[in-house]
Amino acid sequence: MENKVRVRFAPSPTGPLHIGGVRTALYNYLYARKMGGDFVLRIEDTDQSRYVPGAEAYIFEALKWLGITPDESPQQDGGFGPYRQSERKEMYRQYADKLLEEGKAYYAFDTQEELTAMRERLKAARVVSPQYNAVTRTSMKNSLTLPQDKVQARINSGEPYVIRIKVPHKEEIRLNDQIRGWVMVHSASLDDKVLLKSDGMPTYHLANIVDDHLMKITHVIRGEEWLPSAPLHVLLYQYLGWEDTMPTFAHLPLILKPDGNGKLSKRDADKNGFPIFPLNWEDPTTKELNVGYKESGYLPEAMINFLAFLGWNPGTHEEMFSLEALIEAFSIQRIGKSGTKFDIQKARWFNQQYIKQKSNTELAAYLKDDVHQNGIEAEQGMLEQIVEQLKERVTYPGDFWKEGQYFFFPPKQYDVKVVSKKWNEDAVAVLLRFKEKLSEQRALDGDLVRSLFQESVEELSLKPGKVMQAVRVAITGVGAGPDLMQIIAILGASEVAHRIDQAIDQLSTHVS
Ligand code: GLU
Repeated sequence: MENKVRVRFAPSPTGPLHIGGVRTALYNYLYARKMGGDFVLRIEDTDQSRYVPGAEAYIFEALKWLGITPDESPQQDGGFGPYRQSERKEMYRQYADKLLEEGKAYYAFDTQEELTAMRERLKAARVVSPQYNAVTRTSMKNSLTLPQDKVQARINSGEPYVIRIKVPHKEEIRLNDQIRGWVMVHSASLDDKVLLKSDGMPTYHLANIVDDHLMKITHVIRGEEWLPSAPLHVLLYQYLGWEDTMPTFAHLPLILKPDGNGKLSKRDADKNGFPIFPLNWEDPTTKELNVGYKESGYLPEAMINFLAFLGWNPGTHEEMFSLEALIEAFSIQRIGKSGTKFDIQKARWFNQQYIKQKSNTELAAYLKDDVHQNGIEAEQGMLEQIVEQLKERVTYPGDFWKEGQYFFFPPKQYDVKVVSKKWNEDAVAVLLRFKEKLSEQRALDGDLVRSLFQESVEELSLKPGKVMQAVRVAITGVGAGPDLMQIIAILGASEVAHRIDQAIDQLSTHVS
């Protein structure tokens, strides 16, 4: 029987989760659900110097908002814990020791100055990317060059050291990436990376491999920026004798800037005025507030749909996918190789679609909040009628209030362009007659209002198109919006009469 699929999302709490990280989490989640497997959230916090307070909590909140629920995490034990690397410190050392014993790793005592000097030397000799490798390690201060008793003496005296992997001199390392295909790397191009740091903490490379192994991870789905590290990881699996259970790799394509030139960064997002983080994030040092997708009015289901399409497609023209539908349709095979341009317009489009799908009751709840906050009382029935009229025109839930100001307040000003073009004696005559007819009614609905308007226009031998915009501007202050007859029906005859009087009064100087 095949092993149960187990995937992991392994962020480092070095700052807020970036939208690219959220996509990685989503793809892992979709794959796990699709395969009936487990989705593990592991916190990779071995780099104490880069630890940012609040970042871990932020990861949890962001995933929760989006409904990307882990099966195992620091908050939910599944028998493979602890799920924070800082709490697993003791586990890593033994593997570093095993590699040392087998001659696959070595102690290195070089100081920062000595490492810099080595790099300078190599640069002067025109070596493009100087490395601590099979060639240079022979002239550095490590357990390969120093006699064993000297090594032991240094360690006993408490001198700081690191443990480095001993990369073979001339070997080809191969891996079959599910997205990229075969990747072949010559070991001569690899660094003898540090596995265990002088503070006793493992580096990302060692911790990642040990944890993926111990946590029985079957598939490593992560961003393309980790592809260059993958050969080293393969080597570590070989060195540790874990080749048979080595996970399958799938490196996700980059998310590109809107113009396609390079990787999307926070700077691009700031410059183009869209969020880069799922939730608000206040930088603990600079106190700069970055507004998140949630707070900007994006619905979680729209974000999920949008992010799923940033690198994957179902192979059909269908675009609207709920989380359940994505699970059903998802496959690693349909993840593209090349980078995907980030298109915020598409995110907005998804948001509009999901807003339109909601019931008027749900949408009215958004409007109700804003209405209340502005100290206004409005009946549920009226709120539902308002959102029904506006829902084709909004992008974010907050737009109901912004776009629908005229449902709550008479115009404070009138669109100058419309007034100068359309406000005239005919419009005033129609308005007065229309007001009259409206006031004779006990209750209004859109159809009734429409026929009263028609009658008013016809009785004056005019054409509706000639005066329509003037009537709209008189009642709403603006030149465009949803069906005016519906707006009038919602406002009611007496409010409309009041607005007509106000407009005629304030715009009288414009009458030509
Ligand atoms: N801790 C790494 C990160 O922050 C995880 C990379 C991986 O998934 O192997 O992205």
